[in-house]
Amino acid sequence: MTLAHTNPQGDGGDLLHRLWIYTNYDCNLSCSYCVAESFVGAERNGLTLPQVCRLIDEAVTLEMTELFLTGGEPFILHDIFSMLHYGLERMHVTVLSNGILLKGQRLQQLKALPYRERLTVQISLDGSHASVHDFYRGAGSWQKAIDAIGRLKAEGFHVRLGTTQTPPRIARISLPCAVCITRLGSPMTTTSSVLSSAAASRRRAWQFHCPRSNRR
Ligand code: SF4
Repeated sequence: MTLAHTNPQGDGGDLLHRLWIYTNYDCNLSCSYCVAESFVGAERNGLTLPQVCRLIDEAVTLEMTELFLTGGEPFILHDIFSMLHYGLERMHVTVLSNGILLKGQRLQQLKALPYRERLTVQISLDGSHASVHDFYRGAGSWQKAIDAIGRLKAEGFHVRLGTTQTPPRIARISLPCAVCITRLGSPMTTTSSVLSSAAASRRRAWQFHCPRSNRR
């Protein structure tokens, strides 16, 4: 089987090879700008292992070569390692995570997966300083992400950083992850998405008025 990597031209030409699966919508963080509107205690709305396997099978039939698993926080799920295992036997796999749960038993289970060379763990990190990251994601979450990246790198995993570029007011300290990369050593790839000022304002306004929300 031929396995493709991300298109180095970055022109979107490889998008048809990618299967994206939202495994679940509950999370261990309650980031105020969450596009999936996930938060601690959110309804799971998860896919079962057989459903995920069927989707992967269909993707392989369609000659897709890259699988992305995201949520919510995928590592909340007991079956996430079976999903990863099934995917890695057939495709390149990227799993998106805030990293906090990737320690202890879960890290051991991650280490036990086959075809690790096909696995990328994408950790959310919104800058080189805790203030921006923690403003949207909660106090202490930046340090926990940094710790997770260190643990994963120490075990030889390919780590990609996912950065949300926040509004211009603080973008200047949100953008550079170079300090983190320098501090943590060995090369990592990065990806970013942009959160507009309007979207950030709406979400923060919503968080202050939603009575059931436990968001900051
Ligand atoms: S960690 Fe990710 S999925 Fe969870 S609330 Fe934050 S942005 Fe949403």
